[in-house]
Amino acid sequence: MNNPFIFSDSNKRYQTFDYYLKSKYGQKVFKVSLNAHFSCPNRDGTISKGGCIFCSESGSGEYAGNITHSLKEQYYEGLQKMRKKWPMGLGIAYFQSFTNTYGSLDYLHSCYDQFIDMTDCVGISIATRPDCLNDQIISYLAEINTKTDLYIELGLQTSNDKTAELINRGCKFETFKNAVRKLAQNNIKVVVHIINGLPNETEKDMINTIKDIANLPIFGIKFHCLNILKNTMLSIVYKELNLHILDKEEYLKIVSKQLSYLPSNIVVERINTDAVRKDLIAPFWNDKKVSVSNDLDKIMSNNSEFQGKNHENLTVFDDFIYKFSRFNTSYNNLILIGDFDMNLIISLNNYYYNVKHIMHNKNDESQNNILVENNNLIINKNYYALHSIDMIIINNMDNIIINDYLPYLSNNGRIILISNKDITYTMQDIVYTINKYIFEEKYIFEIKKSD
Ligand code: SF4
Repeated sequence: MNNPFIFSDSNKRYQTFDYYLKSKYGQKVFKVSLNAHFSCPNRDGTISKGGCIFCSESGSGEYAGNITHSLKEQYYEGLQKMRKKWPMGLGIAYFQSFTNTYGSLDYLHSCYDQFIDMTDCVGISIATRPDCLNDQIISYLAEINTKTDLYIELGLQTSNDKTAELINRGCKFETFKNAVRKLAQNNIKVVVHIINGLPNETEKDMINTIKDIANLPIFGIKFHCLNILKNTMLSIVYKELNLHILDKEEYLKIVSKQLSYLPSNIVVERINTDAVRKDLIAPFWNDKKVSVSNDLDKIMSNNSEFQGKNHENLTVFDDFIYKFSRFNTSYNNLILIGDFDMNLIISLNNYYYNVKHIMHNKNDESQNNILVENNNLIINKNYYALHSIDMIIINNMDNIIINDYLPYLSNNGRIILISNKDITYTMQDIVYTINKYIFEEKYIFEIKKSD
């Protein structure tokens, strides 16, 4: 059966991290897990001493590097291992164990700065808690984010605060939402972890978690099945709790449905936990990664499911722009002019190096030569003199007046004009082609600079 899901080059009906990274870097990129000696406020007594009931002795860092080695040594050891399979592969430094922003700013600098300009390392991924991100830390992360690709991973597990109390998560869903918003305001990509099969949770609760996060400005998600690991609180209490352990089919059917409620632009970093067999008490189907992934593909195909099928967040129009731009992955500088959905802007931020958004009635103060006044757009000479613009999308302006040509529109650059009606515009010295077609009763003009 044909795969209706467009962000996929295989039979996957969801957007895999591998697909995203290949589209972005043009080659294999993998994460290298590191252990940076952090602790966790949910284990050291600051919030509680017990920790989340499922959390292992390694602070959910089963695959992290050797703690007796320096971070760089851990990184190169991990990189070498991965390069046996992908010799040209590049890495992302993944700070996995415990809470990796729970420390002084100086300590954070000593961990992260060394990976910013490092050859063979294209980004940094930091696992942490939403309540360990104060303003100072967020501004440091925002600074890192301007220099390399940064991902912040937050363990939500569930949006249900009653369950969160039961598993001793130690913070509310509201705290999580506030952290996501602050990170997104700084263009930082957020990856959310959720767990299916938590005590007392029904399928409805698990779907609700997805619905609750679907409209937040998140970049990615990791799905996990609840594992009962040795030496955890859960291993002691799971019999008392009379916990139902999801079997493979139950779990995958739930994930398949959850994916259908997830917007198609959200990247799915994993669909299940990589369990270490020797530490696992249950379930036992959970350590066969490839077969689990293949079975999910079959279930989704048999049920005609795909990511985003039941989600209607982006308007049809925003969705079109997103898809259009997504196929042009070589673009770097994008300008959006007019009203656009916030989630769309955040999504585009994932793919463009530099996204600038100019709203109605605001001047670009830095250049003062792109003006939006009373819903008229005026572009004057030498806008963006220093940067080559790859795409400009202009949404619903009454008039567009371009007083000079756009000398730095890149060779493959495009201007897309979107309007409810015919608009007038003037433009000199650009040889262009216009493809006009009707889309949902709006007009789209695509102007492409010819070589
Ligand atoms: S917040 Fe993370 S490291 Fe801390 S107890 Fe929970 S799962 Fe473990």
